[in-house]
Amino acid sequence: MGNTKIGWADKTWGPVVGCTKTQHEGCRFCYAERLHNLRHIAFMHGKKMSMQYAKPFSNVQCFSNRLNQPLHWRKKRNIFVNSMSDLFHKDVPFVFLNRVWETMWACCDMPVRELLYENMPVHNFLILTKRPERLLEYENYRKDRAWGTYFDNIWAGISISNQRDLVEMMDSFMETVAMNKFISIEPMLEPIKIDIYIDYLRFVIIGCESGPNRRPFKNEWAETIVKTCLKRNVPVFYKQGIENGKLTHYPAINGICYQQFPRQLLEAE
Ligand code: SF4
Repeated sequence: MGNTKIGWADKTWGPVVGCTKTQHEGCRFCYAERLHNLRHIAFMHGKKMSMQYAKPFSNVQCFSNRLNQPLHWRKKRNIFVNSMSDLFHKDVPFVFLNRVWETMWACCDMPVRELLYENMPVHNFLILTKRPERLLEYENYRKDRAWGTYFDNIWAGISISNQRDLVEMMDSFMETVAMNKFISIEPMLEPIKIDIYIDYLRFVIIGCESGPNRRPFKNEWAETIVKTCLKRNVPVFYKQGIENGKLTHYPAINGICYQQFPRQLLEAE
């Protein structure tokens, strides 16, 4: 897996590839689906490509041979887990999630690790899902409601696009034990109020839609979110917006760019 230009992470790790759409608006023009299926077509036409493209995006594929990859990255990284899938898709078996968790635990930076693992690199893992209810199911399956307390290098996030997503996902998300919770509002499709949830969050990411089907976006929507975050001291990362009619990375609000990070994520090189 490669380095990434995503801005809020510096590496991607894809033990799972493929997904199917949820009812949430953010899935409508899924970037991962578009990219994967283009490559799948090329593969079917005989182009030499990775075997993951032998199957269409709708086939969820779990790659055991990728599980140990982060253990070979010696420098501390902020790793985006599954940029081309949703880790909590129903077709990812819990036994496979156990193995993903095992890798992430091996890379935590806490005294408990010394008892279990030796000479492992330290990384942060950021997981984004539109299926927090399955994360909760997984926690219940593990009968291990303590992982979130002991392993603080796992950042669990939900990906939302509108107010309805936030309300629908927050119930199960707040119930999960992950101590580091974050939200990614991308693509942001309408004004969203996060005030009542802000104290549960340790990081907020904002971005407008990109790609050929870009839907409308207003910078003032982002401004409202930024203000809420600043008021409650929650780091906010404004990844992309519209300036002078053009898609702009890291746009400014009143002359200031907001590329803030939680302290723990700043420590990665
Ligand atoms: S959940 Fe994510 S990866 Fe899956 S279809 Fe929706 S946007 Fe794409």
